Amino acid sequence: MIPTSFDYARATSLDDALAKLGASGGSAKLLAGGHSLIPLMKLRLSEPTTLIDIARIPGLAGIKEKDGKIEIGAATTHHAVASSALLREKCAALVETAETIGDPQVRNRGTLGGSLAHADPAADYPAVLLALDAEIHIKGKGGWRAVKASDFFQGLFTVDLQPDEIIAGVHVKPQKAAAYAKLHQRASHFAIVGVAAALEVSGGSISAARVGLTGASTHAMRLSNVEAALAGKPLSDATIAAAAAVAGDGLDDLNSDIHASAEYRRSMIKVFTKRALETAKARA
Ligand SMILES: Cc1cc2nc3c(=O)[nH]c(=O)nc-3n(C[C@H](O)[C@H](O)[C@H](O)COP(=O)(O)OP(=O)(O)OC[C@H]3O[C@@H](n4cnc5c(N)ncnc54)[C@H](O)[C@@H]3O)c2cc1C
Repeated sequence: MIPTSFDYARATSLDDALAKLGASGGSAKLLAGGHSLIPLMKLRLSEPTTLIDIARIPGLAGIKEKDGKIEIGAATTHHAVASSALLREKCAALVETAETIGDPQVRNRGTLGGSLAHADPAADYPAVLLALDAEIHIKGKGGWRAVKASDFFQGLFTVDLQPDEIIAGVHVKPQKAAAYAKLHQRASHFAIVGVAAALEVSGGSISAARVGLTGASTHAMRLSNVEAALAGKPLSDATIAAAAAVAGDGLDDLNSDIHASAEYRRSMIKVFTKRALETAKARA
C-alpha cells in the first residue's frame, strides 16, 4: 500500500520542530530515519498530515563526552553508534547493541531517538539503556526535562513522551562492565529475547547490578530479582549462574507469538542473561 498524502517540512532547529508540531494541532509527526514510521504509514496505521523532518537539525546527531557523561544526540544513526571509537572504549555495550540492529540499510537510516520514541517491544536499545541507567533528555514547549530509562518505558509502544515533545538525546555514564546479548529474529534481527547487564564491581564483589530485558514482554523492563541475586556477591561464575537461573521467573505476561512461545522465551531469558553477565564480568 502507499501512504495517504502528506506535506513535508524540514525543521532547522529543535525550537523550529516544536513550533511546527504545535502549529499542526497534533496532526503532524516527526520524521527521523523513517524506518518505523514509513512502514506504519504504508499500512495506513499512521496518517500524519505533515512529516517534520528532524534528521538534519544541526547538533541533533553526534556522540561526545561532557562532564563525565557520554551524550548521544537523538538523530544519531545506529551505524554511528556502532562505529563510535569513544563508545567502543567507554561503553562497548552500546556499540554491540547498535551493531546487531537490523541490516546496514536500517542502521544507516534509523536513529536512537526514533527507536526510543517508537518503543517497539522487540527493540534493542531499551534493554541496554535500562542497564546503563541512562537519562533521556526531552524538550517540549514548557522547556527541558530528563527521564530515567527505568521510568521511560511504560507499556506496549508507550513511553513517557508527549506528542508535542522531542527527544533531544541520551546521557549515559561510561560503563565498561556492561554487555548486551540477544536471540534475534532471523529476518529482521529484532530481539526475541535481548538482555543487557551492567555490573558495578569493587574489591572483587558486585556492589550493584542492573539488568534490562527486551523482546519478551510488552515493553523493556529491569530484572530486579536477577539484580538482587548479584548485589553484594563475589564476582564469580557461580554468582552469575545462580543469578541467571532466576531470570524470567515471576514474569507472567511473556509474549507468545509466531517467533517463540512464552515458555521458550522464559528459557532463553536465562540463557541470554548468563551470556550478558559473563561478558560484563570479562569487561570488569
Ligand atoms: C527491516 C527492519 C529491521 C529492523 N530491525 C531492528 C532491530 O533488529 N532492532 C531494533 O531495535 N530495531 C529494528 N528496526 C527498527 C529501526 O531501528 C528503526 O530505525 C527505529 O525503530 C526507528 O528509528 P527511526 O529513526 O527510523 O524513526 P522514525 O521511523 O523516523 O520514527 C519513529 C517514531 O518516532 C518518532 N520520533 C522520531 N524521532 C523522534 C525524536 N527525536 N523525538 C520524538 N519522537 C521521535 C516519530 O515521529 C515516529 O513516531 C528495524 C526496522 C526495519 C524496517
